[in-house]
Amino acid sequence: MEFLAASLLELITQTSTNLPPDVRAAMSLAANAETPQTQSSQAFDIILANVDMANDDAGPICQDTGMPTFIVHTPVGVNQIRIRRAIREAIAEATRLGKLRPNSVDSITGKNSGNNLGVETPVVHFEQWEEDQIEIKLILKGGGCENTNNQYSVPCDLDHLGRADRNLVGVRNCILHAVWLAQGKGCAPGAVGVCIGSDRAHGYELAKGQLFRTLDDVNPDPVLADLETEIMEEANKLGVGAMGFGGQSSLIGCKITAANRLPASFFVSVAYDCWAFRRLGVRLDAGTGAITEWLYRDPARPVERMARGEGFPLTGREIMLTPPLTEAQMRALKVGDVVLISGEMFTGRDNVHSYLMKNPPPFDLNGAVLYHCGPVMLQEAGEWRVKAAGPTTSIREEPYQADVIKRYGVRAVIGKGGMGKKTLDALQEFGAVYLNGIGGAAQYYARTVEKVLGVSLIEFGIPEAMWHLRVRQFAAIVTMDAHGNSLHAVIEKSTGEALESLQKA
Ligand code: SF4
Repeated sequence: MEFLAASLLELITQTSTNLPPDVRAAMSLAANAETPQTQSSQAFDIILANVDMANDDAGPICQDTGMPTFIVHTPVGVNQIRIRRAIREAIAEATRLGKLRPNSVDSITGKNSGNNLGVETPVVHFEQWEEDQIEIKLILKGGGCENTNNQYSVPCDLDHLGRADRNLVGVRNCILHAVWLAQGKGCAPGAVGVCIGSDRAHGYELAKGQLFRTLDDVNPDPVLADLETEIMEEANKLGVGAMGFGGQSSLIGCKITAANRLPASFFVSVAYDCWAFRRLGVRLDAGTGAITEWLYRDPARPVERMARGEGFPLTGREIMLTPPLTEAQMRALKVGDVVLISGEMFTGRDNVHSYLMKNPPPFDLNGAVLYHCGPVMLQEAGEWRVKAAGPTTSIREEPYQADVIKRYGVRAVIGKGGMGKKTLDALQEFGAVYLNGIGGAAQYYARTVEKVLGVSLIEFGIPEAMWHLRVRQFAAIVTMDAHGNSLHAVIEKSTGEALESLQKA
């Protein structure tokens, strides 16, 4: 097995940095369906450019490289203990090289292991089979989309759709509801893997397993094939749009399986994956561990470029911001404005927000821009370098954000997916704004960072530390302003009305 380590490292690197062809094709279709010049179309411009940048630089497509989950098939007699050990070593090496973000956190102590190894991390499922090669599939599914997974115990009542009964219409309603609920929080447009039936735990596992199907395959079960088609057509009438900005595309894939259930239980489990749908696989020679074949790829087809133009075409209407920002500047902004930030900003996510509730900030945040981001960072020649730095889901900071803004004078918060009423009220009272970055565009935003000026709270681990950055022309859209307006609330309402129009008895 002299090539096993290199093969696994290549699989992890390619999965993290090079979007598979079926996802690229689905994203191209979705992007072309958007009306040019809309916010959703602008988000696609950045997303597509980001996909190319990641492949060009072999950098992570998104900074959240997720929970690495491997499905391994081995011929009878192959030593699975050795393969598990090799997977763990390859995961640690890929993390050291900046292809994966250190993502494994001890759930009791809160300590990040720093190398993506820990209790039950990575996740590895083994199966034996009667073929003579080893097959290893990998999916990297990040926390933002993982948090939008949903499980329904039917019969149940659903917002905007009424009752979901124990039949296929009820299942349909649950899936549409899950897509609606995800809005832009899971970096739409996304794909859903669904399991009808089974028990709670295995249902989720089977739902995630559906994400290993290619987006363009056809379900061999004609009933499920029809349901997948129906969900794709109807979900794309909801109007979620890229990043939840409103638009034509909500879903790039729907894959459904069914499993037997207990008479008393009827679960519909939905695993939502974002547009950064990172899943690949390889077949290995069982003697040497060398790659004999890539799965999900056509060796005859070169990697297609995705970008339409330069990434984010400037219109001249963008508003330039240079922190520290003033109250008057923020009150002049309104929902829909596109801003370009040049100057200093600070990252801060879950641990930082919790810390700021009890402790003063390590940096002066008066007039500051606070970026909800857990970057991938590497130290090179004694200096920190940003390897990937897109926004994380902001709603997790809702319990803290209003206090942080008012206590410390933060004038702009950048994240994705929007925030709630408490934050909106604080923006209005204090004179601040919420800016939506493009989720998953980790390479695009990493390139806006001119210099890492410092870091504090590094004891929280790399993603959770407070990084002090100097950026140039960091693009974001005002989605919550200082006048009580929220694009997220508007889209949630309009998509809810669209969902209502899809009611079916
Ligand atoms: S694209 Fe968005 S949802 Fe997906 S892993 Fe990245 S941040 Fe999370």
